[in-house]
Amino acid sequence: MDKPIVVSGIRPTGYLHLGNYFGAVRNFIRMQDDFTCNFFIADIHSLTTHPTPENLQSGVKQVLAEYLACGIDPEKSTIYIQSDMPEVTELYTFLNMNAYLGELERTTSFKDKARQQPENVNAGLLTYPVLMAADIIIHKANFVPVGKDQEQNLEMARKFAKRFNRMYKSDVFPIPRPFTFDGADMIKIPGLDGSGKMGKSEGNAINLYEDPKSIRKKVMRAVTDAGPTEPNSQKPEAVENLFTLLKIVSTPDTVAHFDEQYNNCSIRYGDLKKQLAEDIINYTEPIRVRIDDILKDDKYLAKVAREGAEKARESAVKTLNEVKKVIGFNSLF
Ligand code: ATP
Ligand code: MG
Repeated sequence: MDKPIVVSGIRPTGYLHLGNYFGAVRNFIRMQDDFTCNFFIADIHSLTTHPTPENLQSGVKQVLAEYLACGIDPEKSTIYIQSDMPEVTELYTFLNMNAYLGELERTTSFKDKARQQPENVNAGLLTYPVLMAADIIIHKANFVPVGKDQEQNLEMARKFAKRFNRMYKSDVFPIPRPFTFDGADMIKIPGLDGSGKMGKSEGNAINLYEDPKSIRKKVMRAVTDAGPTEPNSQKPEAVENLFTLLKIVSTPDTVAHFDEQYNNCSIRYGDLKKQLAEDIINYTEPIRVRIDDILKDDKYLAKVAREGAEKARESAVKTLNEVKKVIGFNSLF
């Protein structure tokens, strides 16, 4: 039987961070054997924030090296750069005709970005979920491993796929579903600034490529409070966030140790932070070393990108031909 199809991507807007890793990339790696995987670098999506050509280029190279360093294997998965597969923008154009202003304006990610960058509320931001839908359904994906922050956008992709099928009385597109292992909840890794999610564009992230000194500095500066005054009290968000990070990189014993100290009011946040920093370093250091090695190998990076683009386009062209047929683009020659 054919393996289920998977698509997911990351914008080359900065170094990959713990949120990207635990929310997305770690699942990518685990899915490679049992699914037909397509992992791409969303360089077209990154244009919404107007990178310079130099930034765009170095960002793409960095994420590609980081994908490979994390363990995405080009022998098993299709790894490609979004703009190397122009079919996706054609599908995006078609899908835009059935995407409505009201629903796009109501999207949380659009509202957030419009608030963060009021001077640059461009149409690409508004139609971000449409391009994301095209990214996913162009390969007829069944599953999409993404973090919690993408839940609503994925819901919109489902809606656009269903709408297309209904409109053209076809079943061109399977309806994609979010994917986590063993039905676990979608993950949201918090930032170090006390609230919200860790993000490349939020300035609150710890990157996989970060050197140990900088990791220690960032963790030691993380927001906390004055400490618990009553036993077994509820943790405020900033403290809860540190525990969330501890849970993903430290041993269960370590987490239990600090939990107990919190509950009996003897906790010293400095100790917790020191431990957290060391455990993050242990986790990321081997990845950082591999990133460095791969970044030096331009030939290998070019080969991966070229072969990935070829494979990705093969699948995209097939879908696009079906799409054009059902829409009624039957060429006269
Ligand atoms: P940007 O700030 O430019 O939007 P980002 O850090 O949000 O960058 P994206 O490229 O938008 O990263 O997202 C890539 C993948 O990483 C998506 O699957 C997203 O769900 C996941 N992801 C991003 N941040 C987190 C987070 N804090 N926790 C869990 N998953 C996350
Ligand atoms: Mg994002």
